[in-house]
Amino acid sequence: MDSCMNPSRGSASPFDSLIFDLDDTLYSSKSGIGQALKRNVEDFLVEKCGFPESEASNVNRELFKNYGSSLAGLRALGYDINPDEYHSFVHGRLPYDLIKPDSRLRNLLQSISQRKIIFTNSDRIHAMKALDRLEIRDCFEKIICFETMNPNLLKSKRTDEFPVLLKPSLKAFRIAVEDAEVDPRRTLFLDDNVKNVAAGKVVGFRTALVGKAIKSKEADYALEVVTNMVQVIPEIWLSGENDERINRTRSEMDSILATTSVGA
Ligand SMILES: [Mg+2]
Repeated sequence: MDSCMNPSRGSASPFDSLIFDLDDTLYSSKSGIGQALKRNVEDFLVEKCGFPESEASNVNRELFKNYGSSLAGLRALGYDINPDEYHSFVHGRLPYDLIKPDSRLRNLLQSISQRKIIFTNSDRIHAMKALDRLEIRDCFEKIICFETMNPNLLKSKRTDEFPVLLKPSLKAFRIAVEDAEVDPRRTLFLDDNVKNVAAGKVVGFRTALVGKAIKSKEADYALEVVTNMVQVIPEIWLSGENDERINRTRSEMDSILATTSVGA
């Protein structure tokens, strides 16, 4: 049974929409997914790009640091990498069963009446698999992902013609704002990456840094885990009907979270 509160969407909540990053925001990749991903990228660098095995780890780190992702870095350096091939190599073989259903998160998301959208650098297949494993895919109206930001990449053989576009590029954020049709000033953007949060701030989002106890400069909120939004950002649930609503909501949410974690 759904523990949906469905508060009416009033004018008092400062948010019309919530935009969530996926990896390390809605689930922790520390369960082993992150390590497997790193291994797959390193294997790709060795098997498909010819880097020596001993350098794969360093190359991966440098590409990520300088270009935001290994794929973006490889293409910027002139490697003719097909994004679909890359994604099926590095994501296709991930141990997705390590991602577990999260009924606590599901109940929380279902209690939020505003629009909810995913904005991830990952490819669509990965996003859908992870959301399916968490059992929260139907909580989101839309997935903005690698393919949304890079519609022309497959059409071009020249790697310099369409550079890979990803967060934290402002261009990527502008595509997301347009695709999601949101008013950034009335949108809460949640992400575990400090640079993404900073870019989100530039385009006008209200921002929450996930996975940290302390806010970065550009973050309006810090959430150690995403479900802490109940305590840290209770204004999400404000309906504007009366001033006590926010307190009621908080205790209602606490009890929802307390009961659902038992059956998880
Ligand atoms: Mg992330």
